[in-house]
Amino acid sequence: MASDRIVGIDLGTTNSLVAFMQGENPVVIPGEDGSNLVPSVVALDERDQIIVGNAARKYLIETPERAIYSVKRLMGRGVEDVRDELKLFPFHLADDLQAGEVLRIRLGEKTFTPPEVSAFVLRQLKRNAERYFGAPVTKAVITVPAYFNDAQRQATKDAGRIAGLEVLRLVNEPTAASLAYGLDKKQNGIIAVYDLGGGTFDISILKLQDGIFEVIATNGDTHLGGDDIDNLLLTIALDDILGDLKIDLRRNAEAVQALRKAVIDAKIQLSQHTTVTISIELPGGKHYAREITRENFEGLIQPIIDRTVGPCRQALKDAGLKPEQIDEVVLVGGSTRIPKVRTLVEELFQRKPHVDLNPDEVVALGAAVQANILSGGSEATENMLLLDVTPLSLGIEVAGGVTDKIILRNSTIPASATQHYTTQIDGQANVAIHVLQGERELAKDCRSLARFDLKGIPPMPAGMPRIEVKFLIDANGILQVSAREQRSGTEAQIEVQPSYGLTDEQVEGMILDSFDYAEEDFRQRQIIEARSEADTILAALEKGRKSPAWGVLTRDETKNIARLEKALLAVKNADDHKVIREAIDALNQGTMRLAELMMDSAVATALKGKTMEDADVGEGPTAPHPMAKAEFE
Ligand code: ADP
Ligand code: MG
Repeated sequence: MASDRIVGIDLGTTNSLVAFMQGENPVVIPGEDGSNLVPSVVALDERDQIIVGNAARKYLIETPERAIYSVKRLMGRGVEDVRDELKLFPFHLADDLQAGEVLRIRLGEKTFTPPEVSAFVLRQLKRNAERYFGAPVTKAVITVPAYFNDAQRQATKDAGRIAGLEVLRLVNEPTAASLAYGLDKKQNGIIAVYDLGGGTFDISILKLQDGIFEVIATNGDTHLGGDDIDNLLLTIALDDILGDLKIDLRRNAEAVQALRKAVIDAKIQLSQHTTVTISIELPGGKHYAREITRENFEGLIQPIIDRTVGPCRQALKDAGLKPEQIDEVVLVGGSTRIPKVRTLVEELFQRKPHVDLNPDEVVALGAAVQANILSGGSEATENMLLLDVTPLSLGIEVAGGVTDKIILRNSTIPASATQHYTTQIDGQANVAIHVLQGERELAKDCRSLARFDLKGIPPMPAGMPRIEVKFLIDANGILQVSAREQRSGTEAQIEVQPSYGLTDEQVEGMILDSFDYAEEDFRQRQIIEARSEADTILAALEKGRKSPAWGVLTRDETKNIARLEKALLAVKNADDHKVIREAIDALNQGTMRLAELMMDSAVATALKGKTMEDADVGEGPTAPHPMAKAEFE
């Protein structure tokens, strides 16, 4: 059964996690370093190997052109969409991008699409889970922000596929957080989910009716979070250092990074303690120390956390609710550990928020609950349906460049709607269908999702054809559009391929590429193994030189061994495992008689009544090559 296990994944902007259901409770699976959070950072090391998570973080400073973080901001988006992100984030895009093309990000000499970069993070989580279970993991539930549009959801699914995961369901993050708290068991109520993470703020209002969740409003700020607090503290510290110590650190990337780490540590400690001291050695032997009280800190961050108030009020307004109508408040995101944020939320919604679960784990835990429901593993929740809403209206362009909405924003999904259209010109055989997303009246102000043609309508006077356009959003929030001319019975059905999504061929290509990577991974591993085997045999040879057996060898034999040893040392660091292996084999051959002699003397010693261990030859060759077959282990 272990191989059928479905995991829940929070693919975050700052941090990602994987969780699963252990008996009645969801638990987060830690990585090899023991940490539950895998920073969503991907880097390319000196050997062009992909590095993910904590280990990748140092590349952000040392070789920023070979590292990427916050890739979630680019998922499912086009060149046009990300202009603002590019002003705020040091993304290095490929230079030759055409409008409408899928974005590609540079990492060293290579380029990757956002789903490919996310797939590296997902693959790390998959590996962590596989190590934990000791069995393959191939199925997952992945969470996405409630406001993610069709293309962003599609891109997330693509990332899963590229990573070798079948994505059984995409779940909205606030819905997952509510599930983690088991709020579904309450049957009815209104839930506010306040999510302040590293770089984004989201507020979602959910309605729970007969155990069914519905997202009734969402709002937020895509550039607000813990990073803003870090930047503020960093600026203050840098100014301090310039003012008091007359050192301008700003040009020293490494020193700035060390200082950033110190202020983040201080911020995190201030969630527990009432005073902390930032203390750090500076280049040139100087020392910077500054005490910050929690009161200090709260004053400093007030303007930042106040920016969450407007979106919360707007979400309540959109939902048509007053604060006192909120029954439950759920905190999500690492930054809601800050006590001042908690009081702000309590004041806003006039209710104590749920704080029992770790706010940076709660989304992954909920994803695991959802995974468990899908695997039929939970009786209690078996009949439970999870409903979400579509964040933006969807429609098509009609005569005069006007938007005609077919599914309105905040509609519960899965959703479907049908509208009828006709032709404008006599004998018109083809109709262009332009699928739009957004609230604006004119097509040019909305986001273009897809275009396709309904072809082969039999000649009829204008206004006669009856064209039925059907929109269907599935449970994952993914849109399909079909069109059909009813009068003639002519049927033409076309599925939407979102403009900024990836085609099936592209995804297939990426899956194949990932095999190429697997090959590269495998090659690297073989090199590493060959090198370590070389070390073993060289160490064994050292031992052999000191053993009595060495004296029995002829001059020619010892000379030959020395030559082979030199040859192995010369190729040991080569990038070709075959070359290393050849040298190892040659040395093995050349030392065969030495191994035999050592073995004989060990046996002789043993026969004299000593144990093998006392004979001090036991630990010699241990690797599985001829010299090791002495089996002294
Ligand atoms: P995301 O959802 O954006 O991937 P997380 O929910 O993991 O991110 O939140 C990460 C943010 O939470 C970071 O800015 C981190 O510094 C902040 N954070 C984590 N723990 C604490 C704490 N104890 N006090 C204050 N901020 C914290
Ligand atoms: Mg998050």
